[in-house]
Amino acid sequence: MEIQPNVYWINGGSSNFYLAVDDAGLLLVDAGMPRREKLVWEQIATLGYQPTDLTRILVTHADMDHVGSLAAIQRETEAKVYAGKETAVLLPNGRSPKHMPWFAQLIIDTFMRYGKIPADCIEIVEPGQTLPFLGGIQVLATPGHTLDHLSYFAPASGVLFAGDALNTRQGLAATPPAISADMDAAKRSAIQLLELSPATFACGHGTPLSGHSADTLMQLFNELRQD
Ligand SMILES: [Zn+2]
Repeated sequence: MEIQPNVYWINGGSSNFYLAVDDAGLLLVDAGMPRREKLVWEQIATLGYQPTDLTRILVTHADMDHVGSLAAIQRETEAKVYAGKETAVLLPNGRSPKHMPWFAQLIIDTFMRYGKIPADCIEIVEPGQTLPFLGGIQVLATPGHTLDHLSYFAPASGVLFAGDALNTRQGLAATPPAISADMDAAKRSAIQLLELSPATFACGHGTPLSGHSADTLMQLFNELRQD
C-alpha cells in the first residue's frame, strides 16, 4: 500500500517493512520476521521491478522482527545494508541487542538467531548523516528501545521511518517501558521525532499514520514531557 508517493508499506504481520522507489532503484527499510521475504518479492513484482533492483536496505535495529528476513533478501538482491555502528557488529553474528525483561532476554539469547549478514555487505551510517536516497534521508540517533536504535527521516516525502522508537499499534505512542533499554532516552528520542512533524509516521508496528492532527502530536509530546 502506497503511504506517500513512491513509499510503500508492506504489512509483515507482526512488524512492518517499507519499500521506496527513487532514481537509483528500490530501497527497503527493515526486514521483518524470518521467512517473510516473499512479501517483499510480491511488492517488488507489483511495482514492475526485479529483486535485483533493490540496492539498499536501511536497518533501524537488530531485533529479530526487524532483521529476520534480512539475510534472505540481501542474498537474493546483493543490496548494501546500512546500519548503525553497534547494529553492524550484531548483524554478522545473527544476534540482537539486550533490552527485554530478563526471562524473555534469556530465551532470545539462548534460542533466537536470524540469518547472518556478511560484514562486507554492511555500510555503517552515523547519526547526523544525510544519505542520498529518496531526495535525502536523515539518519537520526533514537536510543531508548535499544541503545543502538536509528530512525530515518525523508523530508522530501515527509515520511519518518521510526522503527520501534514510536509505534502506531493503538494510536501514536513511544516504545513500551517493559521492552526498552533506557526509558528516559526513549522519551527524549520520541520527542525529537515528534518535533520533526512528519506527514507520515512509518513505524515498525501498527498501521502507518498520516493525516493526523497537530493535537495528536501535541498530546503525546505533553505526556512524554510530564513523565
Ligand atoms: Zn525492537
